[in-house]
Amino acid sequence: MTLGKEDSMNNTEEEISAQVRNPRGLEDTLDICASALLMLGMIGAVVLLILGSVVWSFLPAFGLAGSIGLAGSIGLAGSTWFAWLVLRGLAEIVRLQKRANDLPYSGKISQTEKVDAKRCDSCGQILEGTSFCDTCQQSVAGAE
Ligand SMILES: [Zn+2]
Repeated sequence: MTLGKEDSMNNTEEEISAQVRNPRGLEDTLDICASALLMLGMIGAVVLLILGSVVWSFLPAFGLAGSIGLAGSIGLAGSTWFAWLVLRGLAEIVRLQKRANDLPYSGKISQTEKVDAKRCDSCGQILEGTSFCDTCQQSVAGAE
């Protein structure tokens, strides 16, 4: 019996030390990669824009360089933003999966605000205004 208690204590210590050694889960790594990629992409987009305009201003014959710089800048910014969105989404999925399976997870799960919606008593339509129903023009009971 005593041996069993020691075993369980050792397991707990091992679990704690494992958590201390690796405090970040995959979800955090995905978040960090997403932020780093977005930052690099935005810096790259600014550099492309500056390079394009510099080439354009010093060598007017290469007017196309300005357009290419602008298009590349927009393309790079857009694609890195999309990659950021996908990586953040993956991190969210990992967090949701961990929460659903009662595993510890780091970071926050994004939430949308709840809005209380009222239904019309006579037609069941969700009310946009507070004083009367837009669909059946019935005045709402209790509204001022
Ligand atoms: Zn109605």
